[in-house]
Amino acid sequence: MPAKDLDQVVNLCKRRGFVYPSGEIYGGFRSSYDYGPLGSLMLRNVKEAWVRTMVQQRDDVVLIDAAILGAPQVFEASGHLSNFSDPLVDCTVCKRRFRQDQIDDRDCPQSKKGCEFTDARAFNLMFKTHAGPVEGEGATVYLRPETAQGMFVNFANVLQTSRKKPPFGIAQVGKSFRNEITPGNFIFRTREFEQMELEFFVPPSESAQWYDYWCKSRLQWYIDYGIPAEMLRIREHAKDELSHYSAGTSDIEFLFPWGWGELEGIAQRTDYDLKQHAEHSRQKLEYFDQSTNERYVPYVVEPAAGANRTMAAFLLAAYDEDLVNDEPRTVLRLHPRLAPFQIAVLPLSKKDTLMPLAKKIHAMLGMRYMCDFDETQAIGRRYRRQDEIGTPYCVTVDFDSLEDDSVTIRERDTTAQSRVKIDVLMSEFSQRLGY
Ligand code: ATP
Repeated sequence: MPAKDLDQVVNLCKRRGFVYPSGEIYGGFRSSYDYGPLGSLMLRNVKEAWVRTMVQQRDDVVLIDAAILGAPQVFEASGHLSNFSDPLVDCTVCKRRFRQDQIDDRDCPQSKKGCEFTDARAFNLMFKTHAGPVEGEGATVYLRPETAQGMFVNFANVLQTSRKKPPFGIAQVGKSFRNEITPGNFIFRTREFEQMELEFFVPPSESAQWYDYWCKSRLQWYIDYGIPAEMLRIREHAKDELSHYSAGTSDIEFLFPWGWGELEGIAQRTDYDLKQHAEHSRQKLEYFDQSTNERYVPYVVEPAAGANRTMAAFLLAAYDEDLVNDEPRTVLRLHPRLAPFQIAVLPLSKKDTLMPLAKKIHAMLGMRYMCDFDETQAIGRRYRRQDEIGTPYCVTVDFDSLEDDSVTIRERDTTAQSRVKIDVLMSEFSQRLGY
């Protein structure tokens, strides 16, 4: 399967209200994006799909929601203050700054002529701010650059309160911030983004097998939610690529229009994080196994994914164009769980006679599913719009509905239509959608 065209998807996102450049009325703001009426629903669905698989459908993972603002001690212990940096060089010709690993020899990416670069300097990617009314040393706080530290600093709290024992995991979904030097490629790399991370704590001897398990099951998750296997690959990091704490890392990559790009990293973090925080906080961060009388610091396997990047991958994979009755159409073949709306309720006419019934059906289906309601335009154009935003089913309420208590269900992918009684509509969708 070839990579998809980015511009088509970016245009669709803008046109239909998935993603807008942030602060667009002021010319946009530094590679930031706002998620519109449809994009916010889809992003939420991506995160919910992750939580369903990683927390809801397991008995060994709990969810937390930790603070975004963090004390310097946390990031001192984690190594972010000293290590979380990119090497930067300045071009003395165009006066711009680049990541050292993104320039070829002495060719400046902007001016394209041979020019002089300064020596590399480490640039810390964390956003720094201050808490309280007085700026100064004691007031410095950081916006978290990953959600993971929230799981490590709460390890003892969760262990005490959740009655879990290794192997068990702590999961979190939330915003992270990195002062990226080269944000870009739409929502692939931004300075503010959402992560979906699991820290899975295991007995040290089981680390390799759990790493293997998480690599396989995370890859399968993307396939289950509709990305063709040939647009995905697992890439194991070479030894010289590994972070200082990692005993092995693999990236799940997607074939983006510009090439393979990381969706998720799965790392064996060993006992690095818990030991660092134990040392800096002088607290015991270990597990006492009563059955063996053994005390140990668990090893950690971390699958860390990005919600926004993943959403971009789902959109790109789902984008399709085909012909319906010789008419070209654009269709997003999104998994129903990821689509902004599962169902659209469409009264055939705006006449007062149809509206109350259509609204009643919308309210009924809305108890379980996110449903659009659209009474504008000709019905064919409304179907096209729903196809384009990925809605798997339309329910058309027509004048016959008033007589036969039935409606027409139209399927997005096949455009097939069938007539269904209103009183069995809920169970019909439960069967079709699987929930
Ligand atoms: P990259 O090499 O692309 O900078 P990374 O290896 O630094 O990513 P991790 O620290 O492993 O990323 O973070 C886990 C996940 O968080 C990534 O796989 C990605 O999906 C997401 N992520 C990281 N940085 C960004 C960003 N700037 N914008 C959007 N998503 C991001």
